[in-house]
This record gives sequence, structure tokens and C-alpha cells, in this order.
Amino acid sequence: MFASLFVTVALALFGCVSAAPQKRALAQVYSKCTVPNTVALTFDDGPHVWLYDISKALIAAGGKGTFFFNGNNYGCIYDDANIKRVKYAYDKGHQVASHTWGHENLATLTWDQIHDEMWRVELALQRICGVQPAFMRPPFGSYNDLVREASAIRGQKLAIWDFDSGDSVGLTAQQSKARYDDVVNAHPSNILALNHDTIVTTSQEVIPYAIQKLKAAGYNLVTLAECLGQEPYQWVGTPQVKDVSELDVLSDPSLHSLAAPMVSPAPFGLTFYTHYTDTHKSDTRYP
Ligand SMILES: [Zn+2]
Repeated sequence: MFASLFVTVALALFGCVSAAPQKRALAQVYSKCTVPNTVALTFDDGPHVWLYDISKALIAAGGKGTFFFNGNNYGCIYDDANIKRVKYAYDKGHQVASHTWGHENLATLTWDQIHDEMWRVELALQRICGVQPAFMRPPFGSYNDLVREASAIRGQKLAIWDFDSGDSVGLTAQQSKARYDDVVNAHPSNILALNHDTIVTTSQEVIPYAIQKLKAAGYNLVTLAECLGQEPYQWVGTPQVKDVSELDVLSDPSLHSLAAPMVSPAPFGLTFYTHYTDTHKSDTRYP
């Protein structure tokens, strides 16, 4: 009795008595477009070399796409070739968005780990494109309330899909094309389509086919933000130049430790933005 009274008084002193545990806001989850007659073709897991062909096919059709980039999946986003790809996508008017850093299953991570996965790729997009993305697609489409809470705090919304080309789960190009045939024949008001720019047949066969079918059916090929009538970015600023003399890593020790797992030893401690060799040796797709 005395103990509980003491606790009550103590809580009252700190102004906590009436404060029930606060539920944090949950980020909105979008799995469908809202603007009629639109198709948002989205591409996960890059940057990757096939991005160039996808972009060219979209632009030639008067369309735009959306790229959900990882920080370190098929390669490090700070590799020269990947910086070029990310910048290219953004400069061509496609939407760039977060697919988190290392393609982890966010629903299995702690609060701190979730934020770490999120902020590192956001920082990369800030540096490379000068933007803070408004949308995050959780890897595997996997999320829980903790992920939604973290996204809401970061000012982001979750983007899922209502059509899967199946390219990442082993469907052949022919089977993916058949899926596009089916959805075009069903002719929903809009389509939010999942694809992967890391798969050669997606870029060379499926997407050119899908674009032609979708255009013939009268759809507008737009970004995810456009198909939702929303802004793609929380803010747009100035990109950084890849120049070690300008790196805040030199003055911010926390960036050293976070960068540490993914870099090789380099002289002078200049490790964050440099000293990567491109794992994609040729970038012959670059126009
Ligand atoms: Zn993915």
C-alpha cells in the first residue's frame, strides 16, 4: 500500500499519472494507386546496370517509373557505377525511394536496427540526389507496427503493390508477360506493379512488352507518387559531390563506425565515400 502510494506520488511529481502509454502513429501503407487510369511500374533491389534499359523504354513511351534502391544489396550504392545509376534515374525524372540499406526483413529487427536500415540509404539518396524520399518499400513486403512507427517518425509512407510480375520468385519472362496480359485484360482502374531492375529478362523482355500492352490499353505510366497524387520527396536540396575534402565523415565519428562494416581498410581513414571498386566491372549499358 505504502509502496504503491509512493509510486503514485512519484509519478505525479513527474507529471506521468494520467499519461497512459502513448501509441506512436503508424505510417500509412499503400498497396494500390488512387489516381484513375495510372500504372506505377516500380523496380526494387537496384541500383543495377539494367536500370538504364528500363529507363530508356519508359522515357521512349512518355512514361516514368519508380526505383526503390538498396544501399548494399547487389553492390554498394556508393560505388562509382551505382552513384551514376542512381543519379541517372533521378535526373531522368523517375522517382527514387528507399528499399532500406541491406534488404533485411524489417519485421525481425529491433527499433534501433530498423532505423539504422532506413537512415543509411536515406543519407545516400540525400548525398547522391539531394532528396529525402517520402516512400519506403520494406524488403519482402514485410513489416509490422514497429516498422510503421519508425516510418511515421521518419515522415515516410510504406509502399507495397497490387500486382507482382513474379520476376524475383523464379517466373520466366513468358510467365511474367502472361501476368501482364491478365491484368491488362482485367483492366483495373490503376495498377501498382512490382518488378526488379536486377533481372536481365525484366529489362530486356518483360518491361518493353508490358509498356506496349499498358499503353495500348490507355494507361498512363507514372511514378508511384503521381499515381497517389502525392509528393515523391519530403524535401529537395542540393546533392553532394563525391569529393573526400567535402565529407562530413571527417568530422562526424558516428559515420565512421556505421560505415565500418562495409569498407575495406584504406589509408588516412578516408573510408566512407571512397575506396570502393565497382563489382559490376562493365557499365556498358550507360548511354
Ligand atoms: Zn527487394
